[in-house]
Amino acid sequence: MARVCVIGAGAAGLCAARHLLVEPCVSSVNVLEQAGQLGGTWVYTEDVGYDDFGLPIHTSMYKSLRTNLPKEIMGFPDFPIPESDKSYLPAKDMLTFLQAYADKHGVTELIKFHHHVQLIIPKEAPSGTLWDVTFKNLKNGVIKTKEYEYVFVCNGHYNTPFIPSIPGLKEFHGEVMHCHDYRVPEIFTDKRVLVIGAGPSGMDIALEITSVTKKVILSHHLNPQPRTKFPDNLVQKPDVQKLDGERVYFQDGSEDEVDVVFLCTGYQYNFPFLHESCGIVVEDNCVEPLYKHLVNIRHPSMCFIGVPYYVCAFSMFDLQVRYYIRSMNGTFRLPAPADMTRDWEDEKRDRAARGYSKRQTHMMGPDQGNYYITLALESGAESLAPVFTKVHNDSSLKFKDNLTHYRSDRYRIIDDDIFTCN
Ligand code: FAD
Repeated sequence: MARVCVIGAGAAGLCAARHLLVEPCVSSVNVLEQAGQLGGTWVYTEDVGYDDFGLPIHTSMYKSLRTNLPKEIMGFPDFPIPESDKSYLPAKDMLTFLQAYADKHGVTELIKFHHHVQLIIPKEAPSGTLWDVTFKNLKNGVIKTKEYEYVFVCNGHYNTPFIPSIPGLKEFHGEVMHCHDYRVPEIFTDKRVLVIGAGPSGMDIALEITSVTKKVILSHHLNPQPRTKFPDNLVQKPDVQKLDGERVYFQDGSEDEVDVVFLCTGYQYNFPFLHESCGIVVEDNCVEPLYKHLVNIRHPSMCFIGVPYYVCAFSMFDLQVRYYIRSMNGTFRLPAPADMTRDWEDEKRDRAARGYSKRQTHMMGPDQGNYYITLALESGAESLAPVFTKVHNDSSLKFKDNLTHYRSDRYRIIDDDIFTCN
């Protein structure tokens, strides 16, 4: 019987706890959550910087956010998002959904809120690896260390800003801000804003702030260019070559003057609580060595839920959790470490050959369907219906090409392989 520690009570941690709680080979589940409530990313706060306990604010949620994927593919396989007249939901509905999920499965009452995990160290015991997890009760300051057979790392990966190295950025005369700290558009009233990056946040926020700014320059290297018809005060430009004072120079030789450099340049995986003896290295946003982006190859009794991105997140978390628990309870055996390493190296080589950069090691997108099938085949767990990948692709294309209107679409899933959208 195993004692299990789950770090974080966002969607991934809740999902892990939900399945662990009904697993006969598990004797106890501790969910340690540093915040005062569950939901992680989906908790909106006006605060930026540090919280009352001196920890960096975790959430990157902004006030107006509506999901960038339809709710039909955003629920859990055993707990879909209830019917409503909209497919793209506001963040507060997602938070309500996660609270309902955690309540229904008896997870809420076992979460230890205000418990910040500080350090995780593996130690060898006759029975195999044990984990010493050290955490601080933020309310009373008491620090404790507890021993577990398994650790599920579910601390999220949209909270540590990635700051690109752009010549002149540090010396820029105006304001520099990352979208992690963005909440409402009014802060940019009458400003000339350079938005760098056209991922989901960059595109959405660039469009939103056109209502108050003098001008928005959206700099990116998307190819092909998004076909969205933006308002007249937004222009698209290629990558920035350098900044000088308030001037910005682009790769196509053009230049302009701006008041704010707004970095929508993504986030970095960050596991500050993992001691180096855990064997996990993060370099250029590649977390390794991880078998199937999930299992710590150096210590397979540690797993990471939610590392891949551009996926049907909650359903993928669910599949990853079911996969891993099947390895815990003996339904299938994980390969030997040498074989897991070979598989991981092969996967990296294959991705590199197909043009993925190291920074994109965990990007799924077009690979997501195969990823789900691989996890399902190896473990015998049920995969995600192919229609999920189809809806994800459909919605993602519309995001780029019809950003201003695509959220009024309404999806209906007809069966495992067919959907409609109108
Ligand atoms: P999180 O939600 O980040 O949860 C991690 C939890 O771990 C947090 O509660 C945190 O407090 C806790 N934690 C971290 N470190 C510690 C520690 N040391 N000790 C204790 N607790 C700790 N996905 C979609 O599918 N659709 C969308 O429309 C979508 N929109 C998004 C919009 C924004 C602005 C962002 C930032 C992300 C969006 N995502 C979206 C991705 C979203 O983050 C994932 O869908 C999912 O919610 C991530 O869940 P998670 O549990 O992995 O991480």
